[in-house]
Amino acid sequence: MELESVIGLEIHVQLKTRSKMFCSCSNTGENEDPNTTICPICLGHPGVLPVPNKQAIEWSVMSALALNCEIPNHSKFDRKHYFYPDLPKAYQISQFDEPIGINGYLTIVVSREKRKIRLHRLHLEEDAAKLLHDKKGQSFVDYNRGGTPLMEIVTEPDIRSSEEAGEFLRELRLIMRYLQVSDADMEKGHLRCDANVSLRPVGDEELYPKTEVKNLNSFKAVEKALNYEIKRQTKVWQDSGKAPEEQGTRGWDENEAKTIEQRSKEGSADYRYFPEPDIPGLDFNKKWVERIRATIPELPANLRARFIEQYGFKKEDAKIFSSDKDLAEFTEQVISELRAWLVSQDPDATGDEILECDKKKLAKLVSSWILTNLLGLVRAASLPISEIKITPENMAELITMAHTSKVNKTNAQAILKEMFKTGSDPSNILEEKDLGQMQDDGSLDEIIDSVIASNPDQVEQYKSGKTIVINFLVGMAMKESKGKADASQALEMLKIKLK
Ligand code: ADP
Ligand code: MG
Ligand code: ZN
Repeated sequence: MELESVIGLEIHVQLKTRSKMFCSCSNTGENEDPNTTICPICLGHPGVLPVPNKQAIEWSVMSALALNCEIPNHSKFDRKHYFYPDLPKAYQISQFDEPIGINGYLTIVVSREKRKIRLHRLHLEEDAAKLLHDKKGQSFVDYNRGGTPLMEIVTEPDIRSSEEAGEFLRELRLIMRYLQVSDADMEKGHLRCDANVSLRPVGDEELYPKTEVKNLNSFKAVEKALNYEIKRQTKVWQDSGKAPEEQGTRGWDENEAKTIEQRSKEGSADYRYFPEPDIPGLDFNKKWVERIRATIPELPANLRARFIEQYGFKKEDAKIFSSDKDLAEFTEQVISELRAWLVSQDPDATGDEILECDKKKLAKLVSSWILTNLLGLVRAASLPISEIKITPENMAELITMAHTSKVNKTNAQAILKEMFKTGSDPSNILEEKDLGQMQDDGSLDEIIDSVIASNPDQVEQYKSGKTIVINFLVGMAMKESKGKADASQALEMLKIKLK
């Protein structure tokens, strides 16, 4: 029996509003001492009244729109009851039957195939406190996180592999970052994910009992846990010839690299949902929704398509550019400088004409300088792009210097390193360090002659067919020119002279 995986994700995204969801406590509790960003409202003292955070609602609507959801005209908050020390009120203010967004989707690309993952809903709720358990079996509660705004996003069971689940989460994280509503850092718990998985015979449309895997703190954990669970369930199907009998909740144990059975799951009836009586319903007026839609910035999928179409970048490169909004912006500024420079070289042509005909060439040049050379330095220094000292103007100048052979590649890389360190101008560095390419004034000719004269053995070997030694001679020429010669030119001249 051939089985396919059926996966649905429930994702929580912590919003980085300034205050909490229903009180004015600071929402910076993760960086503060435990139990210092708290008040009677988020501690659930009797008689207090929650006031919804307007920013959190607007950001949830914006996120829902960015995920192609419909925004119903009306929404409301409900109380969801459960008893656990992370919840001082013994209920969580959440949303039950009238979420902020419904029927959305997110398109991802996996193995060159486009996959549309439908979204069931997006709703807003308050986060619970953080429990800390020590080795002696004692538990501690930090209420700083209690009451911070949390969006829950639930997909339809449209995901078919752990790889798709990972890609979905990465794209979602990117969107949250583009919208600037969350840092969406999984390791820090800003983005959390429970994964639901079942199997079914290929071609079958039915859904079979699923397992929900909790406690997934990284993208790797999601993928590993899903693969583990798919294997485990495959065995159940193969051994019994049918689906597992019961739904279950399992926790991911990172050290053991396996999922472990937990409590059996509550049904929604156990939560005793009822409308939150202290918060009036939310009416979403169409014009207000459209005003929010208008504030959505360009999203990563669009940016990638544009980088391919407008600038001629390869798909893989466009993907890297899109992975960091600051990097994409920096690159566009560099391109705009390069374009101005190209126009200045040819006053008759317009920027568009030049860009059109040189698109591929320009894209290659920019991606090799930015994605290979610059990103290499950035990653080694683990610095965010927003903090590098190199301006787009200077980056563009260096690229033109390399492109017009004013410096050779090795020296251009040395200049880039210096720019990265000090932020100074490439032309200043060039002058100061005397790294300019040797101009063709006959000096290379002299150098080549002297290299040939002083290395008779290698010349002999070359002439008798061991052509590889020419690289040695090029190296000698480069050395003699103190690195300023153009290596490819030296190679050409040597070939001619040794014929
Ligand atoms: P629960 O009530 O157990 O939380 P829901 O119906 O709310 O279940 O669905 C939770 C998540 O599980 C959703 O992402 C949904 O797509 C997914 N899901 C539901 N049924 C299945 C199934 N049989 N196999 C895999 N995923 C499923
Ligand atoms: Mg659920
Ligand atoms: Zn508070």
